[in-house]
Amino acid sequence: MMSEELKFPHISTGDMLRDALKNQTELGEKAKGFMNTGALVPDELVDAIVAERLIREDCRRGFILDGYPRTIPQAEFLRSIFEKDQTEVLTIGVEVGDEVLVKRLSSRWTCPKCGKIFNANLNRGRVGGACEECGAALIQRKDDKAEVVAERLQVYHRTTEPLIQYYRDRGSYVEIDGEGSVDEIFGSVMGVIKNYE
Ligand code: AMP
Repeated sequence: MMSEELKFPHISTGDMLRDALKNQTELGEKAKGFMNTGALVPDELVDAIVAERLIREDCRRGFILDGYPRTIPQAEFLRSIFEKDQTEVLTIGVEVGDEVLVKRLSSRWTCPKCGKIFNANLNRGRVGGACEECGAALIQRKDDKAEVVAERLQVYHRTTEPLIQYYRDRGSYVEIDGEGSVDEIFGSVMGVIKNYE
């Protein structure tokens, strides 16, 4: 939704890694074991795909990074990419409690073809069948299984949460409440961005 509204590309490291896995590339083979157990893929692999993506023409005006950076070294790497030019980073923290997250992930269905995401709690009746956009059969992500979700949450609290302070210290962190409806959260995110411009 943000990408459509702002006309910025949506760059999700998770999506790029899942593509690499699906296409059985060298990167996919290296990342597989980490992703399937809920661990983070090593920084140098993720940094390389982000750096390669950000130099493309469509990122000139701006871009949305989703799922990156997830570690302090990744944040430092991102900073080093922009050291020479004037690119500013605005970090939006979408605050959601662990219990709500677990519920959302266990009811999330994804289209393997077009990437559209459905949630069994929100899209009752449509989930578990065909994608309403392109007709492909919806799947549940392997790492949305309860035991993998528990590990991902631990990794988040241990390794990624310290980034909140990192960006607070640099004056570029804004937190919003992520427990409302999709439209409410989208409204809050766009409000933060409009305020920043
Ligand atoms: P996501 O789709 O953002 O939930 O990411 C799915 C999985 O991909 C994560 O659990 C990690 O294994 C891997 N991954 C995605 N982004 C990163 C990142 N920035 N650093 C390390 N691993 C990542």
